[in-house]
Amino acid sequence: MKLALGQIADWIHAEGDFDESAEALGYSIDSRTVSAGDLFFAVRGERVDGHDYVESALNDGAIAAVVSMRWLRPGTVDEARLLRIPDCDDCILFALQKVAWNVRRAWGKRVIGVTGSAGKTTTKECIAQVLGTTFNVLKTEGNYNNHFGVPLTLLRLEPEHEVAVLEMGMNHAGEITALAKIAEPNWAVVSNVGPVHLEFFPEGISGIQKAKYELVQALPPDGIAVLNGDDQRVAAFARGLGERALMYGTHNGVGVRAVNIEDRGLLGTDFEVELRGFEADPWPMTLRLPGRHNVLNALAAVAVGVLAGIEPLECVSSLEQMVPGEKRGNVIEFHGAQIFNDTYNSNPRALEAMIRALAVSNAKRRVLIAGEMLELGPEAAKLHAECGQAAADAGIDVVIGVRGLAREIVHAAADGGARAMFVETPEQAGEWLRTNAGAGDVILLKASRGVRLERALDALALGP
Ligand code: ATP
Ligand code: MG
Repeated sequence: MKLALGQIADWIHAEGDFDESAEALGYSIDSRTVSAGDLFFAVRGERVDGHDYVESALNDGAIAAVVSMRWLRPGTVDEARLLRIPDCDDCILFALQKVAWNVRRAWGKRVIGVTGSAGKTTTKECIAQVLGTTFNVLKTEGNYNNHFGVPLTLLRLEPEHEVAVLEMGMNHAGEITALAKIAEPNWAVVSNVGPVHLEFFPEGISGIQKAKYELVQALPPDGIAVLNGDDQRVAAFARGLGERALMYGTHNGVGVRAVNIEDRGLLGTDFEVELRGFEADPWPMTLRLPGRHNVLNALAAVAVGVLAGIEPLECVSSLEQMVPGEKRGNVIEFHGAQIFNDTYNSNPRALEAMIRALAVSNAKRRVLIAGEMLELGPEAAKLHAECGQAAADAGIDVVIGVRGLAREIVHAAADGGARAMFVETPEQAGEWLRTNAGAGDVILLKASRGVRLERALDALALGP
């Protein structure tokens, strides 16, 4: 949203000789991607201090920069392009958040917050897809879901936007509360509670559950919670909400339910959507996003769409158009094998969901290439082993573990009777693919982001 510097300065108590009537056209914390007319926030990060980049941001077209009162400008920086605020730890970040909150308030329409241990981005994309049929939607780009990403997303709000769909992530207790204070969501969507970032939760999964509940607690009195009824820990959030909770899932009793599910594994799922309170027959749906878990992500979007007054048929048709994004299950053909590139991220719950999808895929041979899963805390080895066991139980033919604790996946898979092998690097996994992948194979690649398992695909020398 375009804002006068004077207005922004009022909100963040900034001082300086800047032109109060000049307008910021956009907002940036990264001098490398600054656009002409942006207001640059000199945020201090773990590795870099934005103050070191003020000069380059201004040279690249930023209209002005928000900096600390105590910062000594180098000779070439024009004092008349600085908004100075009192110095404190994180004060520039707080200023960014404060401007974002003011913009959210001034805009004044519906914000939908999406959280959960897995499936936030996908659920957010599904919701934006459905709402996009009818409304002008602002959505989080990619994975911009943290204390920088949420305010930067809000700062992209324009008066013509009719609804905002924001992904909200967290690694620690209290973080969702902080994000909700900035975004003030009217509706909350919670996908699930699972063992992600366990190392920051000494109480274990119940700590994660509480942290996800923060989004529901942050709702205003007329706020609505859209909850995954298949996840007991999430379904519990409906307590006390009465009509203000809408549950989706596959079980009897939920408001938005998938029935007659026909699993086509990694290729997607056919099912019917049954809506409580609608006289009509269930709506048949062919979802191209792989795995049962994506049925739930799509149902969340149907729930939100119907709440927003969109016809169920329109919700369903729009979701049928969706295909997996890059590194989120997109398919690569190689020598007659279908390779599913799901290397964006992994965690035990997500991996097990995709193992189930792989298991029911129509294939001559089913291959799992599973990289290490990071940030799992003291239980990490056991959680890896459980995935290996799950792969063997599901009848996966070949299991290849890549890096570190993926060794535990391999041991457990081998103990369970699968052909299993451990390699240290994505490149070695790529070499296996190059020499072994063949007609009729369905192959799933999945790992934590830090493993960069997509490098395995470099060995296949696929064209541009
Ligand atoms: P991040 O914490 O990285 O932002 P996210 O919560 O946004 O992750 P997605 O990026 O949507 O999650 O999906 C990550 C992976 O989790 C997917 O590739 C998929 O394997 C798995 N996944 C997606 N949805 C679900 C779900 N509802 N339940 C379990 N696993 C899921
Ligand atoms: Mg995400």
